[in-house]
Amino acid sequence: MTYQYWNPRMETLPRAELEAYQLTKLKDLVRYALRTPFYQKRLHQAGIKDGEDIKTLGDLKRIPFATKLDLRAAFPYGLLSIPLDEVVRLHASSGTTGTPTTIYFNKEDIIRWTGFVARSIYATGCNKTDVFQNMITYGLFTGGLGFHFGGEAVGMLVIPSGSGNTTRQFKLMQDFGTTVVHATPSFLLHVEAKMREEGITRESLKLKRAFAGAEPYSEDTRRRIEELLKIDVYNSYGLSEMNGPGVAFECQCKNGLHLWEDGYIAEIINPDTLEPVPEGETGELVLTCLCREATPILRYRTRDRSGFYTEPCSCGRTHRRLYRITGRTDDMLIINGVNLFPSQIEEVIMSMKEVGNNYCIVVEKEGVLDRLTVKTEVGPDIFMDDARPLNALKERIRKTLQACITINPRVELHESGSLPVSEGKATRVQDNRPKDV
Ligand code: ADP
Ligand code: ZN
Repeated sequence: MTYQYWNPRMETLPRAELEAYQLTKLKDLVRYALRTPFYQKRLHQAGIKDGEDIKTLGDLKRIPFATKLDLRAAFPYGLLSIPLDEVVRLHASSGTTGTPTTIYFNKEDIIRWTGFVARSIYATGCNKTDVFQNMITYGLFTGGLGFHFGGEAVGMLVIPSGSGNTTRQFKLMQDFGTTVVHATPSFLLHVEAKMREEGITRESLKLKRAFAGAEPYSEDTRRRIEELLKIDVYNSYGLSEMNGPGVAFECQCKNGLHLWEDGYIAEIINPDTLEPVPEGETGELVLTCLCREATPILRYRTRDRSGFYTEPCSCGRTHRRLYRITGRTDDMLIINGVNLFPSQIEEVIMSMKEVGNNYCIVVEKEGVLDRLTVKTEVGPDIFMDDARPLNALKERIRKTLQACITINPRVELHESGSLPVSEGKATRVQDNRPKDV
């Protein structure tokens, strides 16, 4: 297989040169950070008064971690490093876990970010002949405009369809011969179910690829989308604090996400001890954004769980690859004392052929005990009025889940297409237990 690089030099830069480049960029970043009220105090306390006080990449460790709470406290302009009249855009996080945080960009920041998105798109084998339908929310959320400009930079025809309204999405795909789409994995599964419902044949579409991200999903979910839609699905990771999409992306080897290390410095830490984990182990991803001047953010605790593959990728890129992100460190549910990540449930049910494309998890209190219910849709070939096979299936899902998660869940089966679908990020967990006050 031959691989195409958007920026051949930077994407294959030998490690030593990549690290030297990171050091130069880190010094610049510290200079910008020192201009913000938020960082001036923090950096001075750490004995850093100038970019030149950073002598090695190891000096990054002198800088305290930044959390979402810190960024919120700095709202609205505490992290702005340039005069407001040089700012050309702002974006905000989708606020999945609370008040959104705001990020500002100058003209060059936008150009650099666009370059990373273009590089990511190109790494999947797309080129200017592609027709790209961006089926994700536009607006303050970075996924819309981030991919939009990245796609245009590659030279693709970009259709800014936005998310939702599957009927209109199919019409656009058919009218303009869409070859690649961007969406959340849950929306892609919904699209497939709707296609069957509306009688849209696969042959009437020219689809070849999808970029799927913005929320965690399992390898089985990727395989399911690929098989059902007969396309290649590439994992796309980003967050608004680090610009948005284009932080880490899968190449055509589809085996981990290359984190663009000329734009970001990554660390993996143990979220309890805050110490780095041994190479290859999973922990919390911490990121420093080297490619943005207007809003400097150093050592940001993403709360996302991942780790690094240790062996190089056969595509020839020198940038390390992240494991599939399995969720946030604070996603963890404690059910009657047992720790459970929602991704563990997804891994089990999405590998079962009879299970449909949508599911959700409900946790409630029953007396003094916690009660876990997993609601899943069944596949389109399964009839809901045939009780015997349904009960057998339910029991099989329950047993398989119990074996993997050591919790005995209640399982509910629902008709294909009947569980609620979100247009943005899927909300999979409803925790209805009373909150401690
Ligand atoms: P919010 O933190 O409010 O959801 P963002 O819109 O910036 O704000 O979303 C970024 C977050 O989305 C990431 O920190 C991560 O938790 C999740 N995410 C994005 N892409 C992926 C992916 N490919 N796999 C798993 N999670 C992802
Ligand atoms: Zn690769």
